[in-house]
Amino acid sequence: MKLNFKDKEALIRVDFNVPLDKEYKITDDTRIREALPTIQHILAQGGSVILMSHLGRPLEKLNADGSINKQKFTLQHLVKHLKKKLKTKVHFADDCVGKSAVKKAAALKPGEVLLLENTRFYPEEEKGDLAFAKKLAALGDIYVNDAFGTAHRAHASTTIVAQFFDKDHKTFGFLMEREIENATRAMHNPARPVTCVTGGSKVSDKIMLLEKFLDYADNIIIGGAMAYTFFLAKKGAVGNSLVEVDKLATARDFLKKAKTAGVKVLLPKDSICADKFAADAATQIAPSNQIPDGWMGLDIGPAAARQFAGVIRKSMTVIWNGPMGVFEMPAFAEGTKIVAKACASATKKGAFTMVGGGDSVAAVNQLKLAKKVSFVSTGGGAMLEFLEGKELPGIKAIREL
Ligand code: AMP
Repeated sequence: MKLNFKDKEALIRVDFNVPLDKEYKITDDTRIREALPTIQHILAQGGSVILMSHLGRPLEKLNADGSINKQKFTLQHLVKHLKKKLKTKVHFADDCVGKSAVKKAAALKPGEVLLLENTRFYPEEEKGDLAFAKKLAALGDIYVNDAFGTAHRAHASTTIVAQFFDKDHKTFGFLMEREIENATRAMHNPARPVTCVTGGSKVSDKIMLLEKFLDYADNIIIGGAMAYTFFLAKKGAVGNSLVEVDKLATARDFLKKAKTAGVKVLLPKDSICADKFAADAATQIAPSNQIPDGWMGLDIGPAAARQFAGVIRKSMTVIWNGPMGVFEMPAFAEGTKIVAKACASATKKGAFTMVGGGDSVAAVNQLKLAKKVSFVSTGGGAMLEFLEGKELPGIKAIREL
């Protein structure tokens, strides 16, 4: 962040959409901790900070009488924790716009913090309403976007608000900078060989990513349920495995494109099959294109895991998005675990390894390997879209005048 924040009020869009338990206690404060460096930097420079964020989806979970469930979705739940982490005064405005927010923002002293109420209490937020964004913008002198997780949304507080600040009064926060830097490093002039690892449930969710990988990958590994759509497309027997029958042509087309591009596509040779979708299912190992009737592939098998790990360990750049199996159930977590460990050992040998997008991040955290890879992205959908090569509205809004 090059801007000087002395005596300035910084309006920061953070992602404080943290999980809370039944008593509204924070169960995982990762997102808050990730935002601290930006906040602390601004406070240390002699600025003050106005924080805005959403929490949950309040407009989709209204009370029976149609009112907003403020008790559940208020950001007030975070104030105490923020005070503890920042060791400074943290005020709270019970409305993100309006008189009280304006008054509290104006009264803010250097070194102090004001947390605004949930921006999603207003439908205008997700609609990207200009007048609402203007009211938010009026609260601060400089706009800082540090919410990578919502950068793919053209919402009022993530994108539209930036229109009201010129280029000398808007910037990315440290978290956003890191996300952009790392993903860019992985995609542009990466050290070779480059291996892209995808998994998860659906080809339809990942096909754009797979196609983009063709631009720069040497190897593309496909695990998870996605693989069975490819096996079915190649006329294999997949039993009851999760497949998208309407994506067979897409899968065939992708394999053809990969061949033309000279990119090696690796599908799992074998699978751990289950007789039902359950943690205590009976299991057997079978070739992935010969899954017995009545059985379903829920994880890559040991031969596939060995092969994938070998390729990953020999790579200099690894981008991983999506688990290899139903990692939430211990019986089907082994493939994901082996891939995660291979990423860790590639990192140790000097490779740049990045894990991005939802469930693979959860898997790496669950396996306590987050610190052993080069970068773990905080943005699920946002990272997916960034890797797909899309220009995210939240990023574009900061870059343009
Ligand atoms: P996604 O959100 O598309 O990244 O998919 C993640 C989900 O895919 C996780 O909840 C996994 O349990 C699930 N998954 C991975 N492999 C399989 C599989 N072979 N069969 C069914 N679900 C799977």
